[in-house]
Amino acid sequence: MKLLVMTDMEGSAGMINHDDWVVPGSRYYEEGKKLLTLETNAAIEGFAAGGATEFLVVDGHGYGGINHLLLDPRAQFMRGPYHGNYYSMLDASFDAIAWVGQHAKAGTPFAQMAHTGWFNVIDYRMNGVSVGEFGQLAMCGAFLGIRSIFGAGDEAFAKEASALIEGIETVAVKRGLMPGSGDEFGTEGYKERNNGAIHLHPELARTRIREGAERAARRFAENREQFALLRVEAPFRREIRYRSDGTKAAYTHRDEHPDSIIRLLGGKSLNADS
Ligand SMILES: [Zn+2]
Repeated sequence: MKLLVMTDMEGSAGMINHDDWVVPGSRYYEEGKKLLTLETNAAIEGFAAGGATEFLVVDGHGYGGINHLLLDPRAQFMRGPYHGNYYSMLDASFDAIAWVGQHAKAGTPFAQMAHTGWFNVIDYRMNGVSVGEFGQLAMCGAFLGIRSIFGAGDEAFAKEASALIEGIETVAVKRGLMPGSGDEFGTEGYKERNNGAIHLHPELARTRIREGAERAARRFAENREQFALLRVEAPFRREIRYRSDGTKAAYTHRDEHPDSIIRLLGGKSLNADS
């Protein structure tokens, strides 16, 4: 069983806010990388106990979120820049995809540090379905027949994942405190408003992640069809609504591809914002 483990920083337990924890040079950035990496190791531990044998850990945090020197030696580690297409990391050799440290999509209530790509996005839709970073990769995986089996992050992210993928195993490690979508905020204001959360202790978070990952791998080995495929039919149409950013007014971007969601979502316009 070969897994792609996508990682992001904002969704790990103990990540208190954006500016001090997930940005290079900030006070706790190295501590933050350690928190994410240890959660990732806990997931690998669980997956391996459940029967998984190969792991590709992808650092999906724009600035970099994994300390690869601390990573479980069973895992291979991937970090861009990527040639051409961001989703070129995916190929049919993977059995399943898992997420660690993932945050919810832009506009989600009670979601700590929620955003989609960056804090300038209000909503991102694929063929009418609102998705965040999780849904985008899950859709690209499903396009190749790869199932999404596990997600760890804040509680709002866990709900988002379960709503999109029937049967996915999720673990919530903290809960955001801010109600409302925040759609009325500009980019900078939106980035600040969702920092509040109640966190599990990182050690307890890791225990739950290990247990959840093991359950996911066991269930997958038992019967992979317990995990729904998030299929979207061609042609693929994307609509991204951006909020105002500094002096730049709000606007909407639309594009489409006749037959490949991977070409559409992994193309340059996305990379420029993430
Ligand atoms: Zn992210």
